[in-house]
Amino acid sequence: MTSVGFEGVDDLVLPFAVEGLDVRGRIVRLGPALDTILDRHNYPDAVARVVGEAAALTVLLGSALKFEGSFQLQTRSDGPIEMLVVDFDAPDRLRAFARFDGERVAALPAGARSAELLGEGVLAMTLDQGSETSRYQGVVALEGQGLEEAAHQYFRQSEQIPTRVRLAVAEQFSGSGRAWRAGGLMTQFLPSSPERARQADLHPGDIPEGHSAQESGARPEDDAWVEAKALVDTVEDHELIDPSVSSERLLYRLFHERGVRVFEGQGVREACRCSRGRIMAMMRRFDAKDRRDMVGDNGRIEVTCEFCSRRYDLDPAAIEAEIAAPDAR
Ligand SMILES: [Zn+2]
Repeated sequence: MTSVGFEGVDDLVLPFAVEGLDVRGRIVRLGPALDTILDRHNYPDAVARVVGEAAALTVLLGSALKFEGSFQLQTRSDGPIEMLVVDFDAPDRLRAFARFDGERVAALPAGARSAELLGEGVLAMTLDQGSETSRYQGVVALEGQGLEEAAHQYFRQSEQIPTRVRLAVAEQFSGSGRAWRAGGLMTQFLPSSPERARQADLHPGDIPEGHSAQESGARPEDDAWVEAKALVDTVEDHELIDPSVSSERLLYRLFHERGVRVFEGQGVREACRCSRGRIMAMMRRFDAKDRRDMVGDNGRIEVTCEFCSRRYDLDPAAIEAEIAAPDAR
């Protein structure tokens, strides 16, 4: 195994390849970056777990952007979590928030997973590489299947890449208190011959009931992908979260017989992109009457960032003067 440093470090995503199985993927372990986000919002545990899962998934997908651009994962659905937004700005910035119905969350059974918290609706993934023309959005219907399965469907439908995703989140207790951790593993079958990928692409649900894959004319899945999926499915939640098992060690345990190579990692940190400038850009999109309606009893306009809870205390007269002034830039 080739290993490039970073052994045992949190908030890091590592790309890897298993050439013997024509598989490539990424593994992420989130520690302080996720704990900072969840600690600040003080979400109920069930909501925090889903935000953690979504954050791990977002880093797995967004870290494909090497140098610039942003990736956003967003849900809107009818479950106790009404809306969930996670942003990853290349190369390393992560932020997230959720809107939820506290009473419905409190009524959930202990250990409820993303399938129950999200319910039915849509999961949208938006890739923005700077210009309008490079903006791409993929949408998957949420039908009570949860985030892992929604990710599989996205890659099957939009990208035609056989993909396996595992996500795990837990709050760990240690001498210094409680801290949230998350782990994610994404494995994709990328053989040089597209024909082999197509064979692996048939979803069992696409085969009419009572028929096997062979009867319906489909060939069986590629042996290499069957083996890779079986290996990925042996990963336990606690292994993905365990801070004492490095990502390299976990990949080695899974794939060493097929020769896994691990590439240079990318760090991840909690960071919001909000600023007074962005708030002003938002203010310009409203008309003067709407802005007057925003003024509070204290005569100020107060804006709180949903992602990082930072509060902006703005003087309405200064805002109007700035908007009325000819562009100084
Ligand atoms: Zn913010």
